[in-house]
Amino acid sequence: MTHYVVPAPVQPAVPVEGSSSLFPVRRILCVGRNYAAHRVEMGGDDREPPFFFSKPADAIVTPGHSVPYPTATTNLHHEIELVLAIGADGADVPVSEALDLVWGYAVGVDLTRRDLQNALKDKGYPWEAAKGFDNAAPISAIRPADRVGDPQGRIFLSVNGQIRQDGKLADMIWNTAEIIAQASRLWRLEAGDLIYTGTPEGVGPLVRGDKVAGGIEGVGEIAFAIT
Ligand code: MN
Repeated sequence: MTHYVVPAPVQPAVPVEGSSSLFPVRRILCVGRNYAAHRVEMGGDDREPPFFFSKPADAIVTPGHSVPYPTATTNLHHEIELVLAIGADGADVPVSEALDLVWGYAVGVDLTRRDLQNALKDKGYPWEAAKGFDNAAPISAIRPADRVGDPQGRIFLSVNGQIRQDGKLADMIWNTAEIIAQASRLWRLEAGDLIYTGTPEGVGPLVRGDKVAGGIEGVGEIAFAIT
């Protein structure tokens, strides 16, 4: 039996809807600026292609858990996103075969230290501190793909009952198959990878005590408090 010199990390995992089984998380990729109106609100150029960044696997916050307000920010933002749960390995996957890699779908929130992100952007520095912090990736239970199809419907988020984000997956600049194909040119995708696919417009600040609720038509719902 292997002897580790410090305790081995716990495998992060997301519940599967309607099951006692878990989806083990290998890593989290995220797409930036994948809805035109959000790209504009972030000051982006409409011709710039989407790009990827990542969060550590243990940034997930699973259903029933709250999110402690993170350190080192006074401008924590919500970004509601469709999450792809990858269930098969693939590199250089053509768009026509990309959806074969999807095991299921979930609703996620890409929490962002917006003040840090803006400071890092100004300096041309990496975004890890703005995007990859502890508890930065709340996620719903994963719904298996055979119960979802290819989701295209409404994606929305409310804070304390007030709608902040209300968009349509059909408005993604790069669709799910194109995102997977592109990611698989940059990394070999493997079972356990999660891909957060970008957020529609309406991102904004969260404070302690806020109740965040969101959903995606045909995929599921997410709810958590900021404490
Ligand atoms: Mn995002």
